[in-house]
Amino acid sequence: MFEAVRRFWKDPVWSSVVAGLIVAGSLSGGATALGWWPVVVSGIESAWVSIISDVAVPAWLLLVMVAACMKVSWELATWWDRLGKRPYEHDVIEGVKWRWDARHGSPEEVVDVTPYCPTCDMQVVPEVKAEGYGDSRTVRSTYCCDGCGTKLGRFEDDPTYKSRVVRHIERNLRNGRR
Ligand SMILES: [Zn+2]
Repeated sequence: MFEAVRRFWKDPVWSSVVAGLIVAGSLSGGATALGWWPVVVSGIESAWVSIISDVAVPAWLLLVMVAACMKVSWELATWWDRLGKRPYEHDVIEGVKWRWDARHGSPEEVVDVTPYCPTCDMQVVPEVKAEGYGDSRTVRSTYCCDGCGTKLGRFEDDPTYKSRVVRHIERNLRNGRR
């Protein structure tokens, strides 16, 4: 529930709608206090009359307005779709629990990919060592938990392993796993 409220406030569309309502409320309160209410009412009335009267609108403006409405509806639908779903921001991949921050955009961006122990949830700092020389040189990484001593895995080529983890996450995000 709290998460839903937080997302609601962070959403640019809804926060601007709420901000607009607050501004409108304060304006009407201020207008009442200052005795300007009849002026405001007549202003709204004339605005309403001009809205309902037939006004020639250029076709291009109509198209722009339709496109803007479609864009807003799309954003609202996407936001609503995400609201009820838990974000896909952790997974156990090849024996190591990974957490990351998925920035929703186009394309989906995965940042701060960090390893954790799947047994005790402590953050793991892998031991990364370069071994061999020349063509046989490789950077191996050993993932061992300082908290409970669980050996999580030893990976032959550290950059390749991390790239594989990121690609695994990106594939699941693309396929709609959240
Ligand atoms: Zn552990």
